[in-house]
Amino acid sequence: MHASKDLSEFNAGTVLSLLGRNPSKQEGFLNPSLYKGSTVIHPNLESLESLGGRFWYGTAGSPTIANLEDSWTELTGAAGTVLSPTGLGSISLAILSVVKHGDHILLPISVYGPTANFCNNVLRKFGVNSEFYDPLIGKDIEELIKTNTSLIFLESPCSQTMEIQDVPAIVKVAKKHNVKTVLDNTWATPLFFKAHDYGIDISVEAGTKYVGGHSDLLLGLTSANSRCWPALRSTYDAMGMLPGADDCHLALRGLRTLQLRVKEAERKALILAEWLEARNEVERILHPAFEDCPGHSLWVRDYSGSTGVFTFILKDQFSRAGLKDMLEKMQIFKLGYSWGGYESLLIPVNSTSRDRIRTWSHFGYALRIQVGLEDIDDQLRDLEMGFERLKSHVSDVLQARL
Ligand SMILES: *Cc1c(COP(=O)(O)O)cnc(C)c1O
Repeated sequence: MHASKDLSEFNAGTVLSLLGRNPSKQEGFLNPSLYKGSTVIHPNLESLESLGGRFWYGTAGSPTIANLEDSWTELTGAAGTVLSPTGLGSISLAILSVVKHGDHILLPISVYGPTANFCNNVLRKFGVNSEFYDPLIGKDIEELIKTNTSLIFLESPCSQTMEIQDVPAIVKVAKKHNVKTVLDNTWATPLFFKAHDYGIDISVEAGTKYVGGHSDLLLGLTSANSRCWPALRSTYDAMGMLPGADDCHLALRGLRTLQLRVKEAERKALILAEWLEARNEVERILHPAFEDCPGHSLWVRDYSGSTGVFTFILKDQFSRAGLKDMLEKMQIFKLGYSWGGYESLLIPVNSTSRDRIRTWSHFGYALRIQVGLEDIDDQLRDLEMGFERLKSHVSDVLQARL
């Protein structure tokens, strides 16, 4: 592995290329080898009895796991990183490393649904009470802090509704009251938002998305600053929830092209969002780089880029039959969960989660788009034809009003 001091002088693209490998220790091969396994042989009885060495049994990690952990620590500027088998696993691990019985925690209303589910259904059983706040609350979050508040969870932008949060303002309040902060930074990745530089204690990345990049693995990466690292590591060690070595190896490979892929996703998402904004069928674009997006000015202030996931809201004349016809016959934009892979996806924003949506004064369907690596002209044509199918279910009178 390259020592940190070797990499600090380089920019992100170079760092991503050099991380987690050391050809001089790999028989000259560019890439590190893959370690899988449970048993580790100890050289003597003392080593066995004292659980000696960095790797003393498979649940304590392996060179392959450590390699990805160290690479992520380098990239995020954290004190340390642990990995989980899924992004959701990272979120629950991060929260569990902070809370205890009797605590009160705060989460944004439009947080990723499974995060809310974990808090409402699992944490509650252990006496941890969750309260949901307006993601645009900013410094006024201070009014929600109680004597037993231990954690403010943030997600920016929020899933589906895309609100950018005022991270510095919330971190400032949290520090004043000795409350810890956890940020789900999956959308931006550390390339576009350096969470720990903004004072976030624990940052979570669903590696399933852009790090993996090919929809062929599930993974979570949780990094912490020095204040929260010991508790995060010991909670992780106690739980024994590790990803498989193959997935870590794939994720390390994904890191090599991460910058290339997110920049391409950004470029195409901006083209598509502009095209969609000009369409008569579209009411509103919720893309952080667009003024209509809640928290846009915070994105301009704090983020160095945008990625390939955004939401757009349709005008309200369209029927479910039209929507079905539009979505089910798409050739490029497929119906499927998750994002960050090479294939484009287009799905309705979950209407059953509307009670978690902050201010939703729109009645039209909202669609979330994940921009894949297909040719932009093919993507635009697919959307164009989709809109034709959507409109074909609307009466001529209503069509004239579009
Ligand atoms: C997908 C996602 C997760 C969860 O990742 P999984 O690996 O699918 O569990 C968490 N947060 C956000 C914002 C996500 O988009």
